Amino acid sequence: MKIAIVGTGYVGLVTGTCFAEMGTEVFCVDVNAEKITNLKQGIIPIYEPGLEEMVHRNQQAGRLHFTTDLRECLNEVEVLFSAVGTPPDEDGSADLKYVLEVARTVGRNMTKHLLVVTKSTVPVGTARKIREAIQEELDKRNLSIEFDVASNPEFLKEGAAIKDFMSPDRVVVGVESERAKELMTRLYRPFLLNNFRVIFMDVPSAEMTKYAANAMLATRISFMNDVANLCEIVGADVNMVRKGIGSDGRIGNRFLYAGIGYGGSCFPKDIKALIKTARSNGYRMRILEAVEEVNEEQKSILFRKLDDYFKGDLKGKRIAMWGLAFKPETDDMREAPSLVLIDKLLASGCEVYVYDPVSMEETRRRLGNTVHYAKDIYDAVVDADALLLVTEWKEFRMPSWSAVKKLMATPLILDGRNIYDVKELEENGFVYHCVGR
Ligand code: NAD
Repeated sequence: MKIAIVGTGYVGLVTGTCFAEMGTEVFCVDVNAEKITNLKQGIIPIYEPGLEEMVHRNQQAGRLHFTTDLRECLNEVEVLFSAVGTPPDEDGSADLKYVLEVARTVGRNMTKHLLVVTKSTVPVGTARKIREAIQEELDKRNLSIEFDVASNPEFLKEGAAIKDFMSPDRVVVGVESERAKELMTRLYRPFLLNNFRVIFMDVPSAEMTKYAANAMLATRISFMNDVANLCEIVGADVNMVRKGIGSDGRIGNRFLYAGIGYGGSCFPKDIKALIKTARSNGYRMRILEAVEEVNEEQKSILFRKLDDYFKGDLKGKRIAMWGLAFKPETDDMREAPSLVLIDKLLASGCEVYVYDPVSMEETRRRLGNTVHYAKDIYDAVVDADALLLVTEWKEFRMPSWSAVKKLMATPLILDGRNIYDVKELEENGFVYHCVGR
């Protein structure tokens, strides 16, 4: 089977590479010529564990191709996945311009039956818009070619994308015809053989499933942050509370960590888009509106603690930050809470020294020389008045506290991810604050 994947971002590149790994011939298409030139030379544009060697292996086996021109492969493939971005529009709704551009390109160039599958996260009703856009272009060409649309939302997590794609909890597929179902069953046969669940449903339900999943996960995070804030006020320990409730099988222990709020390229935009979808259909998602509000406030929690410690006198303070990416194992800085924190620190006259194992380049691209880029964790804390732990990378977990203490000007640690041991830090002479304890 031959397929095309349009968009070689986090989702498209991982999807294409994993399908190639399972023996499918894959054409990855992107309008970004630099990305494609690099990929052809085996240079991977994103940091994702295990991806690079899998790309190389499948390129060498001749199953994975890269091109900027969809027309090159459109009529060779049976299935086309669209995995282009759906960034938030100004009003919070999902911007479908890239998705519909792909549909129009398909309509302008297709010559035989094609199954057009949307992998991007798109609001309910988008498959219908895609169908209309393709049909409009076919009508302009006075052609009647049969095609199908389907929805196959992606649930992978950045940082564990390959594992998530190859061993999914489930694959959700929305179809409108038996032909589409048959093609998707063929494509996902290796998963079915390995006993992974492929759940077929109607297209609107598949589109909605992705938003509902992200909304549920974001709700758990904001819920726990709300609980954490109350824990601090009443003298409880959110880590104990997490263990206490997480052991209840009905609740489960995942996604219950208090911290400095969710970020990344999915949760913030998807929550906004779902709220918007509801509003434009005359309904209010009141829980999600609260989830967003809690999250916005939570991003400032370390700043508030720092400001309290120095009694509002932050001018000229030298602040070290460990971690920039919105979570470990990724270089994705989209909507990272660190950016909000840095803004506030700079606005208060602080000097900010940052270190992240993989996101320094992306941060430099976004922030230029407004912050200082440290060589490593120890370089970041030299003469620092406070250390802010922002992303829970493994390499931040067990530093030499005696070395850190010697280097810092003020032994103050604000832990935004609750990864350190209060006792250990206090024994080492630090003032230590975290979230919800
Ligand atoms: P991304 O921004 O990393 O990549 C999108 C790619 O599409 C870019 O390389 C861009 O150049 C390309 N593109 C745009 N228009 C194009 C066109 N007309 N033809 C060809 N290529 C085009 O995006 P992403 O993070 O991979 O996300 C893609 C979609 O998947 C989004 O809807 C997102 O919500 C969803 N999603 C993302 C994740 C994630 O963890 N990143 C997880 C699940 C779902």
